[in-house]
Amino acid sequence: MKNVIRLLKLTGPFKGSVAFNLLFNILGMLFSLFSFAMVVPLLKILFTTDEANFVKIAEKYESITSQSTDVMDYANYFMANLVLENGKYYTLVTICVVLIGVVFFKNLFTFLSAVFLNRVIYGVSKSMRQAIYHKIIHLQLSFFSDEKKGDLMSRFTSDVREIELSIASSIRGAFKDPFYIIGYILALFYINAKLSIFILIFLPVSGAVIAFIGNGLKRKSKQGQQQSGSLLSILEETLSGLRIIKAFNAEDKVEKSYAEKNNQLYRLFIKIYKRVDVASPISEFLGIVSTSVVLLFGGNMVINGTLEPDLFIGYIILFSQLISPAKSISKAIYESNRGVAALNRINEILEAKTEIKDTPNAVTLKSFSKAIAYKNVSFKYENDYVLKNVSFDIEKGKTIALVGQSGSGKSTLADLLPRFYDVEEGEITIDDIPIKNVTLKSLRNQLGIVTQQSILFNDTVFNNIAFGKPEATLEEVISAAKIANAHEFIEQLEDGYQTNIGDGGGKLSGGQKQRLSIARAVLKNPPILI
Ligand code: ADP
Ligand code: MG
Repeated sequence: MKNVIRLLKLTGPFKGSVAFNLLFNILGMLFSLFSFAMVVPLLKILFTTDEANFVKIAEKYESITSQSTDVMDYANYFMANLVLENGKYYTLVTICVVLIGVVFFKNLFTFLSAVFLNRVIYGVSKSMRQAIYHKIIHLQLSFFSDEKKGDLMSRFTSDVREIELSIASSIRGAFKDPFYIIGYILALFYINAKLSIFILIFLPVSGAVIAFIGNGLKRKSKQGQQQSGSLLSILEETLSGLRIIKAFNAEDKVEKSYAEKNNQLYRLFIKIYKRVDVASPISEFLGIVSTSVVLLFGGNMVINGTLEPDLFIGYIILFSQLISPAKSISKAIYESNRGVAALNRINEILEAKTEIKDTPNAVTLKSFSKAIAYKNVSFKYENDYVLKNVSFDIEKGKTIALVGQSGSGKSTLADLLPRFYDVEEGEITIDDIPIKNVTLKSLRNQLGIVTQQSILFNDTVFNNIAFGKPEATLEEVISAAKIANAHEFIEQLEDGYQTNIGDGGGKLSGGQKQRLSIARAVLKNPPILI
């Protein structure tokens, strides 16, 4: 129940749609109740063979209706008169026409309620995806050394999907099923109160059984999502490393390790869905048991003549309709366990701290005119210091190369300047302003970066070069490409600057990719180029 409420809180921004959904649910319920109630007069017509009986009914109810407020009395009276005046067949036609009308509206309202439900569900998942994406592009890089890419992707896809499903059932469980149950129960009490007391015992009992089954589903679901995440990670790595896997004849090896993980996931899913799927047959069985009890008691009443048979059949039909919303509520409760497990995984990202952000009174770095200074800089990724007490100055206009062994900290030193990471001790200043005190945006505006691995996007050559300066003209892009020695090969591409370079620039050579990233940095024309 707690979980259902947590999921419903997500629908806060869509209050209007939720309200419309509720409205159409209630209308739909009233009309479906009405459509089932139509069975009673239908049966009366079919099974009352003697015309004289209708006269009796009409007379009997005529005396009552003058004071009665009971709808059933009016209905009976109206129907008996219709039969007496126009005959049975005419009455049958009338009932069928009314039935068609009622069912039409019932389905219209059901459709409208679904339309508004979808707005809520997909509205929530849309803003959730956007929020995760926003968070990911603003999180500091160090977050991603701990997280697996596939795991992140599974949070985007299957966790969000899980939330969509559980929100759908939570809304139905809160704003639809209870109203159907209440409406049906009221109708049942109206038809026969004595028989209906039994329902009040049966419903809580079956609810408790279902809740018991749902326990433990949350933990298992979380494991399931984690494992599908790691499976996606392997796939992602495999796709990008296919060349190496083939060259080193490692197909069998990677396939074996994939099979192992795949098997684990299979076993977990079997366990999860055993629990999920046992709920439905159990509640169906409980439903049949309770229907039998009603049949027994009600049948006895019919035999004794205290309950009219056509009313009783109508009662049984209504009662059997009670099972489906009751089942749906229990489904909402156990699905919410899985939804909350997914929600928690998503919140782990949304609530991750953005460690590197602007200080409250950060200034704008307007230009670079004198020098960059590293002063006693120390830095560590985890436990061991990678940089210890490093100091040096770089004057404007100078080209400086860092030379050292692999792993000595050259890239790290460069990453500190755009504040991909923050220094542990010491400080870095630009024109004597500590970079910690300037806004990230203005700092990075002064910088152009060509990384060791060329990072390009699945887009045209033009857009890749103009990535940091979307308003650049073709002339500017061409002149940047010329400086980076890229113009010649770009011209020979199929569509020149409008050629799409494929995923990660896959259609280009390593050197060509490098040149494009240089052109991209040149076009930005920053005072500082890393
Ligand atoms: P290089 O001089 O070859 O560019 P780096 O600056 O990339 O060296 O790396 C310096 C050291 O920091 C290496 O020992 C490396 O293991 C470690 N290191 C680099 N990146 C990370 C990271 N994201 N997390 C933890 N350790 C890292
Ligand atoms: Mg390096």
